[in-house]
Amino acid sequence: MSENIFLKIINKEIPADIIFEDEYTIAFNDISPQAPVHILVIPKKEIKKLSESEEIDKELLGHLMITAKKIASDLKLNDYRLVVNNGAEAGQTVFHLHIHILAGRPFGWPPG
Ligand code: AMP
Repeated sequence: MSENIFLKIINKEIPADIIFEDEYTIAFNDISPQAPVHILVIPKKEIKKLSESEEIDKELLGHLMITAKKIASDLKLNDYRLVVNNGAEAGQTVFHLHIHILAGRPFGWPPG
């Protein structure tokens, strides 16, 4: 069994509400949604956090952003927020890189 929970989802060792998958990414509904729409887009490659990504990952990171945009577009979301928490103090709790797509309510700025 894999150690991190998102690798378990990638490897289908535990269930998730998967809404998109291709060779490089997988996207699923957050188990504890913070907005009416709360989706996580993750790379299948194990990257613990954004600051550990490297130059070689630039296409993959671009693909993640384009995938997030396509999911938002397919769901006909006009306004949405993408969030990447990098490190525990920034709010990261799962140490496998992920983009949050949040939508369906207004968001304040600055974030808490
Ligand atoms: P972060 O705090 O940025 O690391 O975000 C981690 C997110 O993963 C949180 O919003 C959690 O609710 C979510 N999460 C944790 N476990 C699962 C799971 N098994 N399936 C779906 N989402 C999860």
